[in-house]
Amino acid sequence: LGGSISRALQQMNNATIIDEKVLTECLNEITRALLQADVEFKLVRDMQTNIKKIVNFDDLATGHNKRRIIQEAVFNELCKMLDPGKPSFIPKKGKTSVVMFVGLQGSGKTTTCTKYAFYHQKKGWKPALVCADTFRAGAFDQLKQNATKAKIPFYGSYTESDPVRIAVEGVERFKKENCDLIIVDTSGRHKQEAALFEEMRQVSEATKPDLVIFVMDSSIGQAAFDQARAFKQSIAVGAVIVTKMDGHAKGGGALSAVAATKSPVIFIGTGEHMDEFEDFDVKRFVSRLLGMGDWSGFMDKIHEVVPMDQQPELLQKLSEGNFTLRIMYEQFQNILKMGPISQVFSMLPGFSAELMPKGREKESQAKIKRYMTMMDSMTNEELDSANPKLMNESRMIRIARGSGHKIKDVSEMMDEYRRLAKIWSKMKGLKIPKKGDMSAL
Ligand code: GDP
Ligand code: MG
Repeated sequence: LGGSISRALQQMNNATIIDEKVLTECLNEITRALLQADVEFKLVRDMQTNIKKIVNFDDLATGHNKRRIIQEAVFNELCKMLDPGKPSFIPKKGKTSVVMFVGLQGSGKTTTCTKYAFYHQKKGWKPALVCADTFRAGAFDQLKQNATKAKIPFYGSYTESDPVRIAVEGVERFKKENCDLIIVDTSGRHKQEAALFEEMRQVSEATKPDLVIFVMDSSIGQAAFDQARAFKQSIAVGAVIVTKMDGHAKGGGALSAVAATKSPVIFIGTGEHMDEFEDFDVKRFVSRLLGMGDWSGFMDKIHEVVPMDQQPELLQKLSEGNFTLRIMYEQFQNILKMGPISQVFSMLPGFSAELMPKGREKESQAKIKRYMTMMDSMTNEELDSANPKLMNESRMIRIARGSGHKIKDVSEMMDEYRRLAKIWSKMKGLKIPKKGDMSAL
């Protein structure tokens, strides 16, 4: 008896060690991704500590997919970190609200003010813009141009140098005109400096905004916390908008901004144009932080357009990441058979845009058929190899002859294959959620 107990203990110990190792490895990997995404070091460390407390080793020991369990825990933890626990003030249509935008110069305030106004205007609001930036030359012109384009009333001055005065006059005027969303754009500085915060304090005191929105450039990286805190210390920041999410930055600074201001992110800016503005979607945002791409959108599409019986197989292949010519062949078959599967791939950057440009579906189909004829002349070894070097010149000549094409055509097909393989390789190791599990991810 004693022997079996100690053996069991021994086994349990081993299991725990292995699970801890998996956990540590997995967390290290995730940590790297988060630091690269500009999440502040301290926040990453807090997250790690919490995860170690939360992750249940029994689950890990019995769970089939340990990495999946850990990833899910991290995912949920990051979502929680983006939730300050109380919603921001939400303006009501038909009731006057004053919303003041603050942030450093170049963060995207003026652009975002217009986007915010435009967004509400489309939903039937009566917004108006006030330019209280008297610091930067051309600030009023910029706002005027934006506002005119969007047909939104605006107020500002070329001569008045007192931002408080303009702000008050503008707000008064638009209150009289029964605008329900009066948006005050303010000036910024390149650096956080006392004069700026004093100015913000004064404008805020004079206009009594219902909501102050801190605008943050997604690429400011580790500076986000100090910047957001500095604003919060002078004025009652109540919400955050992260701009330039269309760029390379993943926007990890948003976690800092939320932590420093105790306010939620409410929108993100995704381009220079007026309509490149989206509601903040915490799951999408966290997926992106973790380098998962728009994973949930992609999964939704798969479930929508791929026949049920083919889903597990396709997903499995996606996760293995060994993109062979045979997989390409099968996907081409799918594309030709059902058309809409191209929608799935359009969720992956670079996939269908190049393979099936819009408006040229016929040509694309002909191209795909040509590729498939060439692949029909391939051996099983060639089709099942994920090694691009296997395709040497003599093989290409044989395939060209066998399929009645030129070597140039075969080479073009191989280019396409390599391009797709590169994209698919990014999916390698991703843990594939099942339908219904999506809420957890
Ligand atoms: P402000 O100084 O804070 O008022 O910033 P601006 O609104 O003038 O924006 C600074 C620059 O960032 C401008 O060139 C904008 O076009 C650009 N910008 C603002 N938001 C976005 C965005 O979401 N994406 C991209 N790509 N550019 C943006
Ligand atoms: Mg501006």
